[in-house]
Amino acid sequence: MRQETKCIQAGYTPKNGEPRMIPIVQSTTFKYDTSEDMGKLFDLEADGYFYTRLQNPTNDYVAKKIAALEGGTAAILTSSGQAATFYAVFNIAQAGDHVIASTAIYGGSYNLFNVTMRKMGIDFTFVDPDCTDEELEAAFKPNTKAVFGETIANPALVVYDIERWAQAAHAHGVPLIVDNTFATPINCRPFEWGADIVTHSTTKYMDGHDATVGGCIVDSGKFDWMAHADKFPGLCTPDESYHGITYAEKFGMEGAYITKCTAQLMRDLGSIPSPMNCYMLNLGLESLAVRVERHCSNAQKVAEFLEGNENVAWVEYPGLLSSKYHERAKKYMPNGICGVISFGVKGGRKAAEEFMKHLKVAIIATHVADAHTCVLHPASSTHRQMTDEELIAGGVMPDLVRLSVGIENVDDIIEDLTQALASK
Ligand SMILES: *Cc1c(COP(=O)(O)O)cnc(C)c1O
Repeated sequence: MRQETKCIQAGYTPKNGEPRMIPIVQSTTFKYDTSEDMGKLFDLEADGYFYTRLQNPTNDYVAKKIAALEGGTAAILTSSGQAATFYAVFNIAQAGDHVIASTAIYGGSYNLFNVTMRKMGIDFTFVDPDCTDEELEAAFKPNTKAVFGETIANPALVVYDIERWAQAAHAHGVPLIVDNTFATPINCRPFEWGADIVTHSTTKYMDGHDATVGGCIVDSGKFDWMAHADKFPGLCTPDESYHGITYAEKFGMEGAYITKCTAQLMRDLGSIPSPMNCYMLNLGLESLAVRVERHCSNAQKVAEFLEGNENVAWVEYPGLLSSKYHERAKKYMPNGICGVISFGVKGGRKAAEEFMKHLKVAIIATHVADAHTCVLHPASSTHRQMTDEELIAGGVMPDLVRLSVGIENVDDIIEDLTQALASK
C-alpha cells in the first residue's frame, strides 16, 4: 500500500460482518474464563488485553496505522506528545546516563530534558544540529545512550540532517530518536535515513483539527540492542518486575523496545490516551495525506507572498530558494515540507504584536499544524521560559512570528496577512 492508502486502510482490517470503522472499546477492563488465561497475559506469554492503563484494542489499531505509515515494526500511543518524548528517552536512559539532543527542538522537549529529566539524574548535552564533526564527536560520552533531534524544528524550521546524525549515533552504538511531528510520515520517513525510533505529537497534523492531544512512539525494529547489551541493561538483562523476562531476547529487535515501553512505562506511569481520543485521531489520520498536501501548497504560496512584502523583515521556510535549508529539505522531504512558516515583521517585537492584533482569518493560538491558520509569538508565549541566548541558540529569534498555514482558501489567508501587515 502507498501512504495515501495506508492513511485509510492500515492498522485495522474488519472481518466478515465487523464494523468498517475502528470500534471504540471504551472499557477499562476485559473478561477471562479462568485466572490461568489471565495469568498468561500478565506473564507476557499470550497476546491480549486486561487493563486499559496498559493496552486497549482501539489504541492498538491506530498505533498500527502510524507504524505502517512510518515503516516501523511496532508503535505505542501516549496521551500527549510530551509523554511520547519522555517515554522514548526514558525507556533506554536512566539516572547516571547521558543523552545528546539537538538545540533545534520544540521548547517543551527542551524543558523536559534540561529541567525535569536532569532532576531524574539523566545528563543532556545540547548540540547545534549544524555543528562540525569535531563538535559532534566531542558530545559523546561513555554513558551516552541516545541521540535526539527533530526532522523540522518547531518553530526554528531547521531541517535535521538525519543521515549524518544516525551515522554518528550508530558509530557510538546508540540509537537516533527523531521527532517527526512537523514533517509527518507523508513528507519524511526518518527510518529510511537511518533513524531508529520516531516520536510524534499527534496533536498536530495527525489529529489536524484541534480536537485531541496525543503522542506516538514508533520503533523501526532495526536497532540491535543485544549487540550493545552493556549499554542497555533494561532491554538486555532480566526484568525482575516482569518475572525475569529479557525483552530483547523474548521479543527480538522488532518488538523489544515497544513491549518494554508498554510493560514498564505505561504500567507505572500510565500516560495512556482514551480509546475515544484514539478514535478521533484515526479520523484525522484518514485525511492526513490530502491535508498535508494542501498545507504545503498553501504555505509555499504564503511564504513567497511574505518574501515579497515590504513590511516583512525576513522569512524562513525551507521551501524558499533563499532558505539555508532548501537543499536539505529537497533531500529529506522532496514532496513538501510542512505548513509552518517563520518570519519577522519590520519594526521588531512591538510591530509583530501590533500586526497580530489586526489578523482576522488567522487566529492567535498556542497551537500549530492543524486545519485552521494561526499565529504565535514564541518569545512571549511557548518559549517564554527561555532566555534570549537560549532562544537564539535554538534558532528562535525574539521577533519571530510563527505562522501555521491552514487548509483554508489561500487567497483569504494572503488577503488577511496583507491588510494586517499594512495596518501595523
Ligand atoms: C507540540 C509538540 C510536542 C509536544 O506535544 P504535545 O502533544 O503538545 O504534548 C513535541 N514535539 C513537537 C515538534 C511539537 O510540535
